[in-house]
Amino acid sequence: MNHEKLKIVILGGGTAGWMTANLMAARWKDRNIHFTLIESPDVGIVGVGEGSTPSMQNFFHEIGVEESEWMPECNATYKNGITFEGWTSIPGFEKYCHPFPSQMDIHTFPKFDNNCQLRRHNFDVEAHPDRFFLGSYLSQNQRSPKANHNFPFDHPNGYHFDSNLLGSFLRKKAKQRGVEHLQRHVSGVIQKENGDISSLKFREGEIIEADFFVDCTGFAGLLLQKTLKVPFINLDKVLFNDTAVVVATPVNKDDLNSQTKSTALKYGWAWDIPLTNRTGNGYVFSSRYCSVNDAETEFRTHLGLLDADVNVRTVKWKQGRLEKSWSKNCLAIGLSQGFIEPIEAMALHLVYNSIGHFITEFESGNFSNQNQQQYNSINDRAFDGVVDYILAHYRMNSRRDTDYWRDNAENQNITPSFLAIVQSWLGASQNNLADEIKKYDTGSFFPLASWQILFAGYGVFPPPENVKPQNIGNQSVNMDELDNFIQRCGSNYSSHLESLNTLKQLAK
Ligand SMILES: Cc1cc2nc3c(=O)[nH]c(=O)nc-3n(C[C@H](O)[C@H](O)[C@H](O)COP(=O)(O)OP(=O)(O)OC[C@H]3O[C@@H](n4cnc5c(N)ncnc54)[C@H](O)[C@@H]3O)c2cc1C
Repeated sequence: MNHEKLKIVILGGGTAGWMTANLMAARWKDRNIHFTLIESPDVGIVGVGEGSTPSMQNFFHEIGVEESEWMPECNATYKNGITFEGWTSIPGFEKYCHPFPSQMDIHTFPKFDNNCQLRRHNFDVEAHPDRFFLGSYLSQNQRSPKANHNFPFDHPNGYHFDSNLLGSFLRKKAKQRGVEHLQRHVSGVIQKENGDISSLKFREGEIIEADFFVDCTGFAGLLLQKTLKVPFINLDKVLFNDTAVVVATPVNKDDLNSQTKSTALKYGWAWDIPLTNRTGNGYVFSSRYCSVNDAETEFRTHLGLLDADVNVRTVKWKQGRLEKSWSKNCLAIGLSQGFIEPIEAMALHLVYNSIGHFITEFESGNFSNQNQQQYNSINDRAFDGVVDYILAHYRMNSRRDTDYWRDNAENQNITPSFLAIVQSWLGASQNNLADEIKKYDTGSFFPLASWQILFAGYGVFPPPENVKPQNIGNQSVNMDELDNFIQRCGSNYSSHLESLNTLKQLAK
């Protein structure tokens, strides 16, 4: 293939499509590649996906966009982590925060680790994660992740944003980088004898040819699933949620959260994502256990909107992923590659990582089979690692109020890696948790600390029969000193609202 004339078509103008266009156009700005992004004027974007991890900071950094440029335009806010409420019925563990990691954790994580070890050996020490991490403090005190000048430690942060506005912003940026944008509905795909895609046919009859295609068609899965017939691995036995009802409500501007809230309900959980102009809410549930109508009633009750005249939208999905996300001359990015469910807001993180891996593989071997295989295996492992961590939210729950929660707690459709990790934490195996995470390579997105925070945040510790007498000493942490340390660090971060107002000023 002649690189000098490479033509890449990105099919789909959702967040995945526009992220792909921006990243490829930025990284390959010195190569002679023509990018065209095509989106249907009739098929809208999924329009959810409003929370991110810190990977989005890297994304914007790579495409050279400052927060002051994009955040005010997308009604975006900062996110320091996620607070989970009501996922367990164990007293004292009604809620916990899963913060993003920060440099300050160097000082506090060893203390958390120490107390977790003690607690797992039945010592009565504080092991709830909330008092051990600066990110939890910032989340719970509506603080910004941006530190004052005299404290040179910004806290890595994710974002909340309006996905439609983000799409428009990224479209503008990609077009400035020379990406061609066509609004056409693709009605046919033409393949070569070897199965490669040669061109796409528009409904109007026109044809567009390319060397390589990126399938960003969302749940339509037009190229890899429908055309190349790449099998889909269904995960509905592992993870039950397949539907969400979604509604916006006014935001409390005086008390703007800098975290996502995730509250367990009877058949799933509800998100609360604060933007500068509204709060995004959704109830993610399993249609096997609850009808859309019943979910909407429970959700409206939860939000105090039972009789309110608001439009509640339903979104459905199939849990799982493609057997391989790069096949022939086509790569699936975003929802067309697969989707697990929204908890932990990992989908755009996977999008960013997948594009990065693809670019690396492409640069080292172009379209060789070896590079394709390597890409698929790295990508699959990353996706499956996320599945394990998400599964833990359900499998470890101690709610017993509905069949949904009982069945989740007893679910036997679990992966060997998940089982090994849980058994090591619960003392049911001799293996060390960190070693298990490393062995199964599940820690690329959720490292040891994330797993410990989840288990300890749920109040799940080894049952007495698994506690082996061991001489580990009882050097428990002085919690008052730790509280003081975290509060003093935390006092260097301004209020969330103040920080967003500063961005607005910079944008003017
Ligand atoms: C309920 C829910 C909550 C979520 N929450 C989060 C979250 O908090 N954080 C997160 O990271 N992710 C989240 N996600 C995932 C996130 O929404 C998606 O990863 C993200 O929006 C990217 O979607 P996409 O671009 O792959 O697909 P879409 O947005 O669906 O875009 C598909 C594109 O393909 C085009 N298209 C389709 N068919 C054709 C055709 N025949 N011809 C031409 N064009 C076509 C459409 O026009 C559209 O432009 C959530 C998903 C769901 C379902």
